[in-house]
Amino acid sequence: MVNTISLLGSTGSIGRQTLDVCREQGIRVAALTARSSIELLEQQARAFRPQLVAVYDLEPALELARRLADLKIEVAYGLDGLRRAASLPESEAVVTAVVGMAALWPTMAAVEAGKRVAFANKETLVCAGELVMEAARRYGAEIIPVDSEHSAIFQCMQGCRDRGEVKRLVLTCSGGPFYGLGRAELAKKTKADALRHPNWSMGEKITIDCATLMNKGLEYIEAMRLFRVAPEQVSVVIHRQSIIHSMVEFTDGAVLAQMGTPDMRLPIRYALTYPERRKSEQPPLDLLNCPPLTFAPPDLEAFPCLKMAMDCAKAGGTCCTVLNAANEEAVELFRREMIPFGEIPELAAGALEKIPNISRPSMEEILDADRRGREFVRENIPFH
Ligand code: NAD
Ligand code: MG
Repeated sequence: MVNTISLLGSTGSIGRQTLDVCREQGIRVAALTARSSIELLEQQARAFRPQLVAVYDLEPALELARRLADLKIEVAYGLDGLRRAASLPESEAVVTAVVGMAALWPTMAAVEAGKRVAFANKETLVCAGELVMEAARRYGAEIIPVDSEHSAIFQCMQGCRDRGEVKRLVLTCSGGPFYGLGRAELAKKTKADALRHPNWSMGEKITIDCATLMNKGLEYIEAMRLFRVAPEQVSVVIHRQSIIHSMVEFTDGAVLAQMGTPDMRLPIRYALTYPERRKSEQPPLDLLNCPPLTFAPPDLEAFPCLKMAMDCAKAGGTCCTVLNAANEEAVELFRREMIPFGEIPELAAGALEKIPNISRPSMEEILDADRRGREFVRENIPFH
């Protein structure tokens, strides 16, 4: 159990739920960070009284400093500010609730400071997971997943003393709002349709990723990085009810599953209280009133993003970074209603085809692949 944390991305969906958990468990928050959202950040700073608040952009940082002038709270800005928040000596753990590859530098700062990292941000693990995990080993940083599937797997693995006993990780997937549709119907879907997730309430980027199933693809790569397993040891099963959060199959045939209501506060709480389990006010899972649990294979033809991510996972190297970068850019264009839904996989596929893969990349090569993936999408926006 940790007593003090730094929270990166406090104004987002995971960030706000992390603060609920801190309130519930009496965990102190020493640093808050966000990109902008000054009003909410001010409220959070007044409620939690951190010693440092870091804002990515300069203008909102100056505005926040004016607003907090009556309190003894330091306001920092830019990447430096985020890095400082991530490596604050007072904080035992850092929650990475920033969306996108932008979390890479503050995450590395937390790892290099030897913190417990409660990892919500999946994009950095997809792009630079091998380097992040290697640095974690070197600096003695403890990496604990927050993503519900990976937290479920982590929980199922407690008590497993020999990783050789793990046969397969089974990621469950709700199927998103467009489950059962074919490619032609999918192509016409709007932003409002894509933001209607059946079971979870989350930030816009991840909600759109759930509609394309890219989210499950990113999680496939995330699982390989976190648990150091081969791609053949990870599989995906559609489970519409989101009650089983994921499973681990062991070599003796036993399959352990972690179940619960779809509420991110559970994996967040576990990442902060681990190895303990603490009481919560969360309503328990009511098995007698839950819908029947169903399982089906994913439709890789209708949802090519998942297939592309699985192929990148198998190939390894910078293609995972290119896929993520192209997806981040394409999702941003879709959010701004500049491209149709069906264009997201097209742009990602185009970037993968155009940009050569480099295996065992250095950090520079990863950053270059990220830049090239984004450039490809910006230069290939189709006219409609
Ligand atoms: P969100 O969009 O709701 O919040 C993102 C946060 O990151 C905000 O506080 C924002 O200010 C901050 N941010 C964005 N860009 C930034 C930048 N350039 N520099 C600094 N801060 C920046 O996102 P979310 O849904 O909370 O997701 C956060 C991460 O957690 C994502 O990687 C997502 O995949 C992962 N995740 C989310 C959920 C969920 O339920 N929301 C579940 C599993 C995993
Ligand atoms: Mg997830």
